[in-house]
Amino acid sequence: MAESFSAELKKELCNIKAEKSCCVKAQAYGMLLFGRHFSSRAISLHTENTMVAARYRELTQEVSGVLPRITSGSQVLECGVPEESYRRRVLSVFGLTGLELTRRINRANLENECCAGAFLRGSFLSCGSMMNPQKDYHLEFLVPRQRLSEDLAALLGELELSPKTAMRGGARVVYFKESERIEDLLTLMSAVKKSLELMDIKIYKDMRNRVNRLTNCETYNITKTVKAAVTQLEAIDRLEKDGRLRGLPEELYRIALIRRENPEASISELAALSGETISRSGINHRLKKLVRIAEEG
Ligand SMILES: [Zn+2]
Repeated sequence: MAESFSAELKKELCNIKAEKSCCVKAQAYGMLLFGRHFSSRAISLHTENTMVAARYRELTQEVSGVLPRITSGSQVLECGVPEESYRRRVLSVFGLTGLELTRRINRANLENECCAGAFLRGSFLSCGSMMNPQKDYHLEFLVPRQRLSEDLAALLGELELSPKTAMRGGARVVYFKESERIEDLLTLMSAVKKSLELMDIKIYKDMRNRVNRLTNCETYNITKTVKAAVTQLEAIDRLEKDGRLRGLPEELYRIALIRRENPEASISELAALSGETISRSGINHRLKKLVRIAEEG
């Protein structure tokens, strides 16, 4: 089975190794903070993605020396730190005691300007997902805590990526629907491949929409022309049946015969067939007059 767009994106993000230690710390912080638990009572991440689980372990160890354990449940992998002393060690790296009442983004852990992208990369790996842009533009962070989701929305807002927020089954969703914003966010997280892919899909979609609009417009015009021709042919038939056709003024009689012989001809073609120097609107005028006379009975 083909990997989902989200899984491919996470794979790309997992393979990015930040160079600066400040960014490594920021990404680890993002992953840990947006995991299932992040306090002295429990530190854990639940995920179905083995690469994400491996990255969580790797980053946690890199910044704290503590290597989380992975246990596999029926559906998900659980990465956690079972010993309290080790949990305290991890938390202390980020200036936390583990007794904080609410989970918030502590900006002190985003030391430099370069760190925001790394932090968001970590957050996305833990709680983000993205739909295949072929189907729909949608990228979201599913955040378990209210205050944390507000902090995330505020941070994204400062980066001029103002997201939307909603509730879903007790959790907060911080999400994006505009392709440009999603593209900016992917770029910020250094997901170069997926960002380019999104751009390509958008160009292709826009072009397809334009083609569809043109085709619809053409179809509309053709339908209109065909309808008009049918009305004219019916009028001519009626005049014939009523015995009034031959009695029409010469120019109307002539155009009626030409139309009857050429039911599918366009107005320009009828003008050419008439052998007269007459404009399209002249022909149109005569045809309308035929229809009117027929209707008047
Ligand atoms: Zn940095």
